[in-house]
Amino acid sequence: MRIKDLGEFSLIKRLAKDIKSSARVIAGIGDDAAVLRHTRDKYLLFTSDMLVEGKHFRKTSGGYLVGKKSLSVNISDIAAMGGVPMFAVISLGVPPSLDLKYVDALYKGIRDVARRFRIDLVGGDTVASEKIVINVSLLGEVEKKNLVLRSGAKQGDAIFVTGALGGSLKGKHLDFIPRLEEARFLVKNFNINSMIDVSDGLFSDLDHILKSSRKGALVYEKAVPISKHAKDFKSAVRDGEDFELVFTMPRAEGRKLVKKWPFKTRLSEIGKVCKDRRKITGARGYTHF
Ligand code: ADP
Ligand code: MG
Repeated sequence: MRIKDLGEFSLIKRLAKDIKSSARVIAGIGDDAAVLRHTRDKYLLFTSDMLVEGKHFRKTSGGYLVGKKSLSVNISDIAAMGGVPMFAVISLGVPPSLDLKYVDALYKGIRDVARRFRIDLVGGDTVASEKIVINVSLLGEVEKKNLVLRSGAKQGDAIFVTGALGGSLKGKHLDFIPRLEEARFLVKNFNINSMIDVSDGLFSDLDHILKSSRKGALVYEKAVPISKHAKDFKSAVRDGEDFELVFTMPRAEGRKLVKKWPFKTRLSEIGKVCKDRRKITGARGYTHF
């Protein structure tokens, strides 16, 4: 059997199966970042993401945006846990023939994002490789009371999403601002039961929440915010790399949130969490998980 017969998620499951973790690990493989024992009132958050030339970006789009993206995707994962990013290490695979200007631009992109989000760049590794590969690992922290996992969705929760979805390949996937401020506002002021960032696509990522929480959901199709770059509803819920936040919270809290939302970033209530994981189809204007 080959890797392509298995798919990404089953492969990770297979790799994770025999990994046992110690009591220092509060939550290991299976969320946006690992949650690790730290101080009396805080956890460490630890996450890593890799970008490969040809798969995630083309060399022709320049180094700057790729650099920005390589750090921003990790910030997005820390944000989805309710935390703040602190320290990053950067590993680089570069073809020896690559123009120095490319790497300079790449690091300018990384530095600009690091400055904006007050992240210290503290190391990494550099090797020669056939294609440009960039891996960033990011360490952050979160107050214990503000930690949000994928697994906390409750029956009756309202489901919210930030921004507009779909068509990110037209540009947003390389040039986005991770929703860190929004996430911190949410966890500091509201009771957020579950959260994830949209990297694989709304339906896929919402289903990660539902699976971890052993719940189902009803999505109001008309309420899903479709980006002007998306082809249609299908593309909005399936395209990946939006790097928006999807989260669930008690409905009464949700009503307060809508009144108090201080950001320009769009906020949409797109559905509710149901008890049953059973898939139901047919109702017009609704999608059930
Ligand atoms: P995200 O899209 O939020 O970055 P992924 O779908 O990449 O998350 O990964 C899902 C989970 O699997 C995460 O907890 C991640 O740390 C873990 N994971 C991914 N690849 C590996 C691997 N090769 N070995 C161990 N854990 C992995
Ligand atoms: Mg994620």
